This record gives sequence, C-alpha cells and structure tokens, in this order.
Amino acid sequence: MNARELPGASNATSGEAYLVLQQHFDDIARLVSDFIWELDGDLILRSISPRLHEVTGYLPHEWVGHRLEDFGAFVGEDGCEETIDWHKPFREKWYRVESRDGVFCTFLLSGIPYYHIATGQFQGVHGVARDITDILSVEEKLRYSKEVAEKSNHAKSDFLASMSHELRTPLNGILGFAQLLQLNPGREPLSNAQQGYAQNIMNSGRHLLDLIDQVLELSKIEAGKYDVTIADVPLAALMDECLVLVQPMADKNAILVQNLIASEDAIAVRADVTRLKQVVLNLLSNAVKYNRPDGAVTVTSLLGDGIVKIDIADTGIGIAHTDQEKLFMPFERLGHEGSNIEGTGIGLTITRELLHLMDGDIAFDSTVGEGSVFSITLPLAEGVATHAPSPDIAPAPAKLDAMTDERTVLYVEDNPANMALMEQIIAMLANVNMICAHNAEIGIAMAEAKHPDVILMDINLPGMNGIEALKALSQIEATKDIPVLAISAAAMPHEVKAGLKAGFQAYLTKPLDVTSLIKTLNALLNEDDSHTEEQARAG
Ligand code: ADP
Repeated sequence: MNARELPGASNATSGEAYLVLQQHFDDIARLVSDFIWELDGDLILRSISPRLHEVTGYLPHEWVGHRLEDFGAFVGEDGCEETIDWHKPFREKWYRVESRDGVFCTFLLSGIPYYHIATGQFQGVHGVARDITDILSVEEKLRYSKEVAEKSNHAKSDFLASMSHELRTPLNGILGFAQLLQLNPGREPLSNAQQGYAQNIMNSGRHLLDLIDQVLELSKIEAGKYDVTIADVPLAALMDECLVLVQPMADKNAILVQNLIASEDAIAVRADVTRLKQVVLNLLSNAVKYNRPDGAVTVTSLLGDGIVKIDIADTGIGIAHTDQEKLFMPFERLGHEGSNIEGTGIGLTITRELLHLMDGDIAFDSTVGEGSVFSITLPLAEGVATHAPSPDIAPAPAKLDAMTDERTVLYVEDNPANMALMEQIIAMLANVNMICAHNAEIGIAMAEAKHPDVILMDINLPGMNGIEALKALSQIEATKDIPVLAISAAAMPHEVKAGLKAGFQAYLTKPLDVTSLIKTLNALLNEDDSHTEEQARAG
C-alpha cells in the first residue's frame, strides 16, 4: 500500500503521509497477536509492539534502547544458546525470556535485515515474534499424560505377566499330579470313580488355564501391545492345517469337515499366519462344538474387490436372534455355561479383535436349528507365497528307545511341590535318576560335580535366575555340552522367545504336559547329538 492511497492521506505532504502511515502501522501492530519489533544498525531495539506488556509484563519503553539478548536468550532445539546472524533473514528462532512475574515465555522470532536504499548500508533488522508459551505448555501436558499412560500400560503388562506366572505355578501342581494319577495305573490303580475325579481335576484345571491365557491375551490386545506380522498367507494350506487339528473333535460326533478352498486356486491373503490360524481354529472348533451329531462343517472362499471372504458354515444349533448381539462380548456363552460343551466365551471376542488388527472383519448369519455361517474378510494378497507348515503345528516325533545305561537328570527348582511332581515323573522313566538343587548356584556346582545327562532349569529362581545360570553353565568346560531345558511358569510368548534365544534346548511351560515332557526327555536321553530344531520347540 502506498501512503498516498491511504484513507486520510489525500492532499497530504510527504511528512504528514508518513505520520499517517506510521499511525496505521501502530494500530495494526497493537491488534495482531504477534509482536512486531525493529532493531537499528547497532542491533539496539528501536521499537516493539505493546503486546509485549500483555505477555511479559514489561512495557515496550523498558526494552527499547537495549539488545534482545539483555532480556532473554535464543535457544536451539537442544536447549543450548544459539547465535543469530542478524545480517541474514531468519525464521522461527526460539527466543526464551523470563516475564516480570518470573514465568518463562517462549517466542518464535522471524526477522529480516533492511538496508539503506541509496548506499546499501545495513540499517537494522525488523521482524515478528509469536508467543508459543501456551502451545508449549499444552504440548508439555500432553507429553506428560502420554508418559503417564505409557507407564501405567507398562505396569498393567507387568502385572499381567506376573499374574500369569503366579497362577501357572500352582496349576502345575494340580494338573501335574492329576496327570500322574491317570498315567500311573499299573502301580496304584484307580477305581472308576477315582478316574472320573482325576479327569474332573484335569478338565477344570485346563479350563482355568484356558481362561488365564485368554483373559491375558484379550488384555494385551486391549492395551495395544499386540504385534502382528503381516505377510502373504496361502489359504488352502492354512485351512488344511487347521482342519487336521479339529478332525479328532469332529470324528467324535461324526461331523464331516470339508475344505472346499482348492490349493490350485492359489488364493493368498494378507495376514499374520499365527493369528489367522488362531482365528480359523476358533471358528472351526465352534462350528464343530455347536454342531449336531452327523452334521457338517464346510469352508469356502469368495474373491471380492481386493478382499477374500472365507465362510465357515455349520449345520448346528444356530444362534437365537435375541442372543446375536451378545455374541462378541467377553464371557458370553449364550446359555452354554452349564452345558458339557467346553468354552470360555472369550474366543469370538479375541477373534474379532485379531481380525481388526489384520485389517479384516467378521460377520455371521444364523438360523436356529439350521446352522450358522461365520464369514471373515481379509485383504487379498497380490502375489502368492509358498508357505511352509509352521513349526507349532508339526509335533516333534519322539524316540522311545529303551535305555540301558543309568542316566541322570538335574532339576533346579525352588518350589517343593513342583520338585515332588518332577520326582514322580522321572520315576516313570526306566534307568533315570533325578538329583535336585533348589537354587541356581547349587545347581551349577552339582552340574560340575555330577555331570548329569540333562538339566531341567526353572527360570524364576531366588538369587541367580535360570537364564544367567544357563550362561554360566555354557562357560564351564565340564558343563558346556549338557543340554539344558527351561521349565518355567513364565509363559508369555516373549518370555518363551527370550528363553529359546538364550540357548535353552527346549522351553516347557508350566503347567507341564507330562506326556510331552516324557517324550522330550526320552528323546534327549536316547540321542547323543540331540540338538535338533524339533526338540528345541517341543512343549
Ligand atoms: P466359547 O468358548 O463359549 O465357544 P466363543 O466366544 O467362541 O466362546 O463363542 C461365544 C458363544 O457363541 C458360544 O458360547 C456359543 O454360545 C455361541 N457360538 C459361537 N459359535 C457358534 C456356532 N458356530 N454355532 C452356534 N453357537 C455358536
């Protein structure tokens, strides 16, 4: 804008026009939220707008005649002081100043040097400043609340991990001894009624274990602590793997289970293979569990625009209309609570959450007395990947050769009930004796002295823990080649992974599956070179 065009400036002399211009400028400077400031050629403040007073409590005239550095400092992102090159334009430099009341305020300063029109000589710098103190304090508060939330999330996860550990330890005793009662008919035969009691202890214990696992899993998903690894997953092969697992349950009730997804169709979805298996297994086992004798379960797929729809249809009891909205709520078993169909009522809740994590979804259609169709949708993979069967599906074949030489197993465990259980388990193996240590330090000394064939190591031990003990054993000449198995109630997937990474030959979680422990031990004690991948995953 030119001074002559300003309202009120017509017919004015150039001096008057300048004053009018100055007046306009001052009004604007007073109104805008940003400050306007000007330094002279010696970098002395010539003017600063009155908003300075509102923010810092200083009147402009108190600052005029001084340098900006006399009141505050320029700071970089790291909080260190920064020097400004006043002869170059600059943008949004942080200028921090203490207000008259002792509160620190932060401004974003931008400036540009100006020069004499005729001589080109440096005349000073002018620019604007924005007060960002409030924004910063909001950001600070947000950062703080985020930190608090993250901390409490962490605390929740830790709590869940230790809960899982604490509950699994007594369950190891309950399920372990119940398994022993069932496995030991020769020496101490049980009456039919007692067999039934032992079976009841097993069923209830396993149900409790399922509940613990599923509640933990759900809490983990809800805490946002669930990682999925998305890859191309060929569908037909995955379905076949899952079908094999539900087949025994289906056979019991003569239910025909068919996978109509042909491998030649080479359909692949984008999903996390383990999680998808979990989803499919839950839906298949529901389709079998809530079916009728001689019923059928059929799996089909349909390609859509960038998605695949997988239908798992059953000819079962169906779900009443009034119950349908409760289907995905945790612990809702829709009248099956008292029935002999096992379940926790959490499976579908987890299934839906898992699908959401994989950008998929679930829907269903059901008619009472006719059956239900559960449909999941997942993104379609562009290419088709080859898919090796995953290790957790293929059980390790165990060699059960008769042992001739006397073998020794060292068990390092601080819990007396678990120790007693292991003694009974080992007593079932021919020619194997067990020696015990109730902490890692004694265990290492015993291993050195007695050179056992296998070491079974608890992880959470008083003093040195099992992982540290494993490391120590690997550094001692006499013990470095002895296979060490972890037997632990630390059963969260990351704990198992850390254990295997630390070098345990296998990581068995409590409550122990006695049969699988016996198989693993038999295999280890029968082979000299027993460092196989399969055993590393047993249990
Ligand atoms: P559960 O562990 O009880 O099977 P889910 O969360 O998997 O838990 O399922 C919740 C409830 O939904 C079940 O208890 C059952 O009443 C009902 N349900 C699930 N799938 C089916 C199905 N295919 N047919 C009939 N009812 C089903």
